[in-house]
This record gives sequence, C-alpha cells and structure tokens, in this order.
Amino acid sequence: MSVSGTGKPSASDPAVRRRIRVRGIVQGVGFRPTVYRLATERDLGGWVLNDAEGVVIELEGPPGRIDDFLANLRDHPPPLARITTVESSDVAPRGETSFGIAPSAGGEKTALISPDMAVCPDCLREMTDPQDRRHRYPFINCTNCGPRYSIIIDIPYDRPKTTMRSFTMCPRCRQEYEDPADRRFHAQPNACPACGPRLSLHDAAGAPVACDDPVRAVRDALLGGRIVAIKGLTGFHLAADARSETAVRELRRRKGRDQKAFAMMGASIDSIARRAVVGGPERALLESRERPIVLLPKRAGHDLSPQVAPASPYFGFMLPYAPLHYLLFEGDFPPMVMTSGNLSEEPICREDREAVARLAGIADLYLMHDRPIHTVCDDSVTMVQRGRPLMLRRGRGFAPRPLDLPLESPEAILAVGPELKNAVCLVRGRQAFVSQHIGDLKNALAAGYFEATINKIERLLEVRPRVIAHDLHPGYLSTRYARRRASDADAGGMPRPPLPGHDAASGDMPTQTAAWACHPAATDVRLIGVQHHHAHVAAVMAENGLAGEVIGLAMDGTGYGPDGTIWGGEILRASAARFQRLGHLAYVALPGGDAAIEHPVRIGWSLLVQAYGLEEALRHRVGRVAREAEKDLRLWAEMIEKGVNSPRACGLGRLFDAASVLADVCSDNSYEGQPAVELEGAAEGQPDDIVPYEFGIIDNDDVGSAGLAASRRRARLAGDKGNETPQGWVIDTLPLVRGMVADVEARHGGAETSARFHATVAAMLLAGARRAREESGLGRIALSGGCFANSRLVRSLVPALEADGFEVYGHREVPPGDGGVALGQAYVAAARLCEK
Ligand SMILES: [Zn+2]
Ligand SMILES: [Zn+2]
Repeated sequence: MSVSGTGKPSASDPAVRRRIRVRGIVQGVGFRPTVYRLATERDLGGWVLNDAEGVVIELEGPPGRIDDFLANLRDHPPPLARITTVESSDVAPRGETSFGIAPSAGGEKTALISPDMAVCPDCLREMTDPQDRRHRYPFINCTNCGPRYSIIIDIPYDRPKTTMRSFTMCPRCRQEYEDPADRRFHAQPNACPACGPRLSLHDAAGAPVACDDPVRAVRDALLGGRIVAIKGLTGFHLAADARSETAVRELRRRKGRDQKAFAMMGASIDSIARRAVVGGPERALLESRERPIVLLPKRAGHDLSPQVAPASPYFGFMLPYAPLHYLLFEGDFPPMVMTSGNLSEEPICREDREAVARLAGIADLYLMHDRPIHTVCDDSVTMVQRGRPLMLRRGRGFAPRPLDLPLESPEAILAVGPELKNAVCLVRGRQAFVSQHIGDLKNALAAGYFEATINKIERLLEVRPRVIAHDLHPGYLSTRYARRRASDADAGGMPRPPLPGHDAASGDMPTQTAAWACHPAATDVRLIGVQHHHAHVAAVMAENGLAGEVIGLAMDGTGYGPDGTIWGGEILRASAARFQRLGHLAYVALPGGDAAIEHPVRIGWSLLVQAYGLEEALRHRVGRVAREAEKDLRLWAEMIEKGVNSPRACGLGRLFDAASVLADVCSDNSYEGQPAVELEGAAEGQPDDIVPYEFGIIDNDDVGSAGLAASRRRARLAGDKGNETPQGWVIDTLPLVRGMVADVEARHGGAETSARFHATVAAMLLAGARRAREESGLGRIALSGGCFANSRLVRSLVPALEADGFEVYGHREVPPGDGGVALGQAYVAAARLCEK
C-alpha cells in the first residue's frame, strides 16, 4: 500500500491511471489551472478538461502522488469553486508523463455559473502597485474574482457570451488568458487599462463631464454633500455621506423612502467598528468573498446621521467589494450610504440610460462605466443570530449558487415564489437554484425583472420546466404567470381544458383531463399549488436536508389560507409533500383590510375591542390608539361588528403591529415589518428573561373566549367561509393584550412593555410547540417566517425549545421571510413528484 498524503515519490510505486469526475461550480473559477499546477508539481501525467457535467481529470503516476493530488484539491480548491462530488475510477495506464489542458468537450452545457465575487487579495495587490500595468485600474479581475452571473448572457460561459464581448483583449491580456499557468487563464472578464472598460463621469442630466480623475471628483462631491449614482459590479448605488444629516435627509426625500434603514459601505473593519459593534462572526461575514451587508448593533456615540437608520437597533454595513469601491474608499474615507439605485420598491437600475432616466431628480452626478450589466443583483443582506449567519436578502455573491435538496427530483421544477420579496427557484435533479432577490411583484418594473430572471436561469440551466409550483393566492402575479405558462402550453387549436384542480390543504396532485392526456405535447405543464406557510416550513427542511415529518412554526404577516382567511401564525405538522394545521394564533379582524396593514393602529384597536368590548375598550385607549378620533374608532368597531371589509388574520406579524401600537412605539408601516423592527429596538437593554404576560391555549370549538367566538360568529354573518371545519387549537392572545394595557396604564415604559411582549411571544410559541409534540410525537421543529428575523424573539425561543428537548432547525442560506418561499415551494413539488 502506498503512503498517501505525503506527496513524496517512491521509486517502488508503479504508475496507475485514474479518471476523476468533479461536479459543482468548477467552470469559470480557475479550476483547470489549479489542477494543472497540482498535477505538474507532482510530476503526474494526464489531462484535464471541461465537459457538459463539470470537469474530468485523468492522472497517471504513482498512487501515493495521485492521492496527495486529490487531498490537496479537496482541501485547497480554487476560492470560487464549490465541489459537490468527486468520483474516481481506475483506467488502463498509457505511459503518459506530461500534463495538459485538453479542449472542452460537449459545450459545457450544465456548467454552474459562479456568483459575482469581491476582488481578490492578489488583484488588490496589483491594483495598489505603482509598477503594475493595472495600477489603479477599477476593472481588475482574475479567475478567482470579479463579475460572473451579472455579465453572462448565455452559455457556454465564454467571453463572446458575456457583456465583455465588445472589448477585444490586447496582446498582453490575451497571453494571460491563454496561459494555463497564469492566474487569468480563461478569466472571461479579463481586461486592462489598454483594452478594457473605463469610467466616465456624467452630470445630473446624463451629459458626460470631462474629467481626468472621476474617482477623485466623486469623492469630493460626496464629501461636499452631493448624491452620486455609482455603477458598480451588479447594479447602481446611490451614495451620500452617512455623517451628513442634510445629505441623508435629502436622499430620503428624493428617493421617496421615509424611514427604512439605508445600507452603508465602510472603508475598513476599523471604520465600521467605530460606528457599530462587530463581533467575530460578524467580521467573518463582512470580510467573506460574498461581501454581504451585515446588520450590526449601533455603537453609542457614533458620528453618523440619525437619519441613516431611524428607530432601528441596527446599522447595515458592508465593506468595499468592487475594485472601484476600493479606489473610492481609499484611506480612511468616511462611511457612505450605499443604497440600491432605484426608487423605493422598484428593482435596481441596470443600464446607463435607464439609470439616468429613472434616477432623474435623485442623483446630482453619475459615475458610470462601459461594462454592461446583463443581470442586476441587489446586495445581499445578512445578520448573525446566535453566532450563526442568517440570510435576510439573497442577492449578489450568493445567486445563483445552488443548494442541495434532500431528494432528487424526477423532473425539472420552476417555483415562482410569492408576491412580496419574491425570488424564484429552479430545481434540476438534486440542485435547487434560488434566484437573486426580485422584489415586490406589485411593482410593474419588478414584474418584468421577474420574467427576465426566470428566462435567464432557464437558459443558463438549459431547462424549460414542465412542473411549476406556485402560491395558492389566485391574484398573485407569480400565480398568474404560472397559469399563463400552463395555458400557453395548451396552444395549438385544442379547446382549453379546465385548469387542473388541486386540493391545496391536503396536497393532492392536480388531475389531468382526458383532453390533456391525449395531446401530451400540448398539455405538458403541470401546476402544483403550495400553501404559503407549508412552503416556509419546507424551505427550512430543504436547507437542513430534512426528510420525514417535523413540527413547523411559520410566523409571518400574511399568507393565503386554503379556508379563505389570512394565515400567518401557524403551527403545522409537515412533511415535504403535505401538512396539517395543528394550531394557530388567534384571529384578529383587520378593519379596512390593507388599510389596517398600512395603519396598524386599526389592528391595535381591533384587539382592544376584542379584549374588552367596544365601550370598555374606549376607556382603555392606550398607546397610539389614544391619538385617534373617537368617531373613527367607533366606525372601525362597527366595520368589525358588521363584518364589512374586515378580513380576519392570524399572522404573528399582525400581533407585532398591534403590540407596537399599544406600547406607543410605532404606528407607521412605511416598510414591511416596521412596527416589529421598532418594537424590537424599543426593548433594547431589557433582560431577555423578563416576566411574560399571560396567554391561553383553547380548543377551536371552545367558546371560552367570548371575543373569539364573537368574531367567528360575525365572520359567518358576513358571509365569510370562516373557520367552520376544525383546524386545530388556538393560542389566545387576549390575556396578553390585557396585560400590555395594564402595563401601559401603570406607566411602565415602552422598553419594559416591549420586552415583556417579546417574552410572551416566545412563551406562546414554546407552549404551542409542546402541544404539537404531544399530538404528533415529533421532536424536530422548523422555524420560518419573517418574524424569525427578530433576534430578541429567537434568543428567547430557541434556547427554551432546546432545553425542552426539541431539535431546532432554522434558516441560514435563504431568508426566513418570503425570500425563502420559492425554495420551499420547489421542495414540496419535488416531494410530490417523488411520491407518484
Ligand atoms: Zn483576482
Ligand atoms: Zn489588456
């Protein structure tokens, strides 16, 4: 037997030949040069090539050295590579002693595309070296760094199929590109000042401004309080001096963004750590190649404008990632707001002309370049929860890297995601490709971006799925898109068959009509409807490789329930394929529907009426409710009483809205989750283990809670389908409401009330989990939904669940909010296909 791992040649080792198949992100990431180097360093013969499935290597030499090669490749792959599998088999030796890179075979069809990556240390070193030919060149890159997903137009990933196709490499760049030993071997965006993209400066109208040093001009403008649109790696940013009250306030005014926190870029970890608390895991995230925005607790005495992140306990910071950012932030340049270059709710700008048109009236100056961006990606947003990274918005640096599913789907699946915070997901085999954050599909521009993203991912993966998973909400744009694809497949003169019916709650597969069955080519697309909160739970299962059943806590604001009510406080028993609703939070009526979500004071009032009855509730007008006119309060109560435009919702997000109103913290909803974010901020400094308020768990047909029974009776009167079929037990929140009211009336501060509210939610969910365990015998619990971005809640709940013997699973790679829903839809669909 040979000694592996030493790499020392042994004269007695006979030469063997091995064929090695490597799958994963192994193309366009400098994989072949690495293989070439490792092989030639060990005097191994053979070759390496890219093919349709990844990379194939044949190695000939003593087995000890081949093992050593493999160990090195495994432990030190190229930084952007993600190896998923390595298979090795013996083949007959051929006496080959030299090593080479062979031409690609099979068109690199299923090559995985790398995300866009931050500039690497080698390139940074060259960029700061006055002797280097790329000194201060803002588009420096190599096989280990630079643009990828954003510049690729089509496959195979080759320069003519990228937005670099209009730049012809100069002889020196070409030489690097063709030399297997060079670190720019086949680096498709390779460029230099002589042959590559250039910066340009433009005024507010988009007219070019003559300028020797655009970077310096922009630095001066920013320090002078101007707002500058900067075209970066994967889209435009709007930049402004984060220390300047005037600049940040003006940016808010021009961008139409009232209160949501702005992201910032800081020159260095030191610069960031002077303004925010940067722990070890946070630092690792900030410095990672993906360079996401990281939410960090604010540091007292910082010098930044309060307008950057009003009422939020966090600053969102990122480090420079494009070479251009390093030039802009050179030295100890102060932190800049670097927010997506768009109006609120619109996708980020892509093209130069588009940017000038859409950002007119916002930017004073444009810093642009002539490397087109084919696909824009927002910056990813992350935070650290209990020492672990948590994705809050998946974008640049992560998309379109696939996640591995716990099963292999027999067919390709497209999951079109929900309405808000949309992302889509495409499944091929075991791999789930979650797209970048697309946004709110109610916005017309986002709707176009949604279809463009689907088309791009399908083109890159060369699949047009015939199974489409979608939300149950019939009005969502994503659902309508899925239906349209299904009916388009029906083109060809045949009468259109009815839409496949499917019983969503029980997860039955759609049934095909006879007309479909006899015209297979025209009847190809199958739709699979997936309940929103089931998708949430399934997303956690997918990420954690869970098969079998779990208890799922899906806690968010809004999701379509199969019974016609608005779900969102769900305790489910779920497998990947199906689910059962064991229990849920109590319903609250939303007088005015969407108006109540926009003005949560109505929800707070609704709960007061439910807890006390109208006349008594008028005597307990606490918090923000006290600011409302009595005639409005009476009108809303009447709407609830008569069931006029007062849909019922049980989302935990709605309870947070109400609590924020009652605790006198926040009654605005200028961005999704604002009352909850501010309530969490208000509790800052209070102990996690503060005494909770009371709550109850009642059986659904229990009339013990008069308010609940009354609200159900009213819903029936109003013709609402209501909750007539038993759907588990209910966590009664009215004792909690009365407890909060008593605290506020006793003039306990908002901080204490907020903290007690958080502790109560944790206690309610623990009690719900225990009851679910008693009924199901399951000990694994999956936490999903936007409410689990709340660190105070997670800090209290997770240790309590663990101490109680639960195995707790949460999100890491996809957001707990609706950005993770597409992955869950895809997993549910794949599991149902596997059942067939
Ligand atoms: Zn590099
Ligand atoms: Zn060049």
